[in-house]
Amino acid sequence: ELPELTEDDPMAIGLGYKKDTATVDAATQPKHTADQRCDGCALYTSKSATAGACAIFPGKQVSASGWCSAYAKKS
Ligand code: SF4
Repeated sequence: ELPELTEDDPMAIGLGYKKDTATVDAATQPKHTADQRCDGCALYTSKSATAGACAIFPGKQVSASGWCSAYAKKS
């Protein structure tokens, strides 16, 4: 099982990753909206109900309820 991506990972910091989309700071991430979550992102592959793989963060799992600035809505 892949290790969990932590918010203090240097790449996570660079992309403003948060484990909970509700904690994203609107001032620093003006494009973020509350309905955006990793499990609704085109780069996400679900691995369980709560976590999945992300193409941006190879070798790590991101939170289903997470978010980062590379978010792209799943079509
Ligand atoms: Fe989550 Fe998408 Fe960012 Fe990956 S690219 S961390 S799935 S919002």
